[in-house]
Amino acid sequence: QHDLPVLDWTHRLTQLGTRFFTLLQPTPLAAPRWAARNEALRVELGWPEQLFDDEHLQALAGNALMVGSQPLATVYSGHQFGQWAGQLGDGRAIWLGEAASAQGPQEIQLKGAGRTPYSRGGDGRAVLRSSIREYLCSEAMHGLGIPTTRALSLVASPEPVRRETVESAAVVSRVAPSFLRFGHFEHFSAQGDTDSLRKLADHAMAHHMPECQERAALWQGNVYAALLDEVQERTAKLLAQWQAVGFCHGVMNTDNMSLLGLTIDYGPFQFMDGFDAGHICNHSDHQGRYAYGRQPNVAYWNLYCLAQALAPLIDDHDMTLQVLEGYKGLFPRFLGDAMRAKLGLTGALAPESEREADWTLVEDVMQLMAAEKVDFTLFWRQLSQAVVQQSQASTLTDAGWSAVTDLVLDRPRLLAWLARYTARSGQGHFSVMGDQMLRTNPKFVLRNHLAEVAIRQAQAGDFSEIETLYNLLKSPFDEHPGMQAYAELPPDWASQLEISCSS
Ligand code: AMP
Ligand code: MG
Ligand code: MG
Repeated sequence: QHDLPVLDWTHRLTQLGTRFFTLLQPTPLAAPRWAARNEALRVELGWPEQLFDDEHLQALAGNALMVGSQPLATVYSGHQFGQWAGQLGDGRAIWLGEAASAQGPQEIQLKGAGRTPYSRGGDGRAVLRSSIREYLCSEAMHGLGIPTTRALSLVASPEPVRRETVESAAVVSRVAPSFLRFGHFEHFSAQGDTDSLRKLADHAMAHHMPECQERAALWQGNVYAALLDEVQERTAKLLAQWQAVGFCHGVMNTDNMSLLGLTIDYGPFQFMDGFDAGHICNHSDHQGRYAYGRQPNVAYWNLYCLAQALAPLIDDHDMTLQVLEGYKGLFPRFLGDAMRAKLGLTGALAPESEREADWTLVEDVMQLMAAEKVDFTLFWRQLSQAVVQQSQASTLTDAGWSAVTDLVLDRPRLLAWLARYTARSGQGHFSVMGDQMLRTNPKFVLRNHLAEVAIRQAQAGDFSEIETLYNLLKSPFDEHPGMQAYAELPPDWASQLEISCSS
């Protein structure tokens, strides 16, 4: 046993008081084993090696407490699939505390660490399958430069967990400056508990979003309007980033929306293979509410829920609506910039006319991709490679574009588009553009079939594929010689994969 804490704990969340959480202990987990340890994150946070020793295996499995930690589960509510769902809360995520780090204070949660007062009939556990997906995708998103909760460790156990079939349990430890969700605010607002609502908003601003104080100047000094404005801007940015890498979240309920604009709650998510704006990754989403192309509007709908929750604090209906309006201008702007960057066309100061012309280029190429369901990730990566190749050619030829034209059946249509693209950018710029495009369009994303291989091997006791994927996905823009198979189209068997909410 340690006498001294390994982490330097602060726990500012606990100052909110017990209306916001229940103190409890994680449920012990049988025979835990490391399935993955995120060394890069540990080093980034400046946390000691000890965190990954045998004693801490027990702590990160929920079998022992780290000295100074303060486990609890928080309460939140939310809208699920467009309906008010009432009280939800951390049903299987147990908060260990907030610890100082080289990147500022970080909260740590154990996901799958047992039942809480908010489990609502659930078992409080998470299966190894979904835990591997969360661990890998958190780090894949981070590697892509997309804000996300991080994954510190993955602990596997032979303990059985009943879902559609009997699977085995696992615990992911995840890290974020704050795990606050829109649903935390909806909870106290729905109860008419304005004092708690204000306490929560003040906590969030004081500790996580101090920039709201300055932003309040834009809103006649109304800090709560500024908070909503800050969240809508972060959300707009996040959604633009998701769309630009073809990421489908799958369960964009308001309780899965991070106040800080982080990607949170990795369930039936998917990086699209063949491009289809109507793609639905969640097998349980029969209406396609959370289809790829609907995500930006759903985020707006969710922001509207947050706005309603904050209304008693903002106390100015017109101002609230005006703040929300911001999203309608910002999201297209962020998406436009993200998509132009994928084409190597940057310059935030570009005049509006140029942005509009570039957006037409984007739309036209997306239509072309959609017509043939061209693989999203491969298309952009191969376009980047082709631009690099053409930058070295003395004259442009159709054959010089083969890296990308080989991906489509309708070559004349793509070549016509490429001629317009070249006219816009100029071959002289291809060298610089190509380099930049290779830093923007990833070679590796966590495709479902890649995760599935790692899952099947892990279920058989071999965790090495998790490490292999982790190493690729944390630097997804690098070439990783010898790993080409991980950047190819999904194999035929992958078309049978169905990812449900069950996790
Ligand atoms: P999700 O669909 O993952 O966003 O989860 C929705 C709600 O169900 C949250 O309150 C979760 O904490 C809770 N929940 C999901 N799975 C379980 C489980 N196995 N045991 C207890 N609560 C769960
Ligand atoms: Mg959730
Ligand atoms: Mg979940």
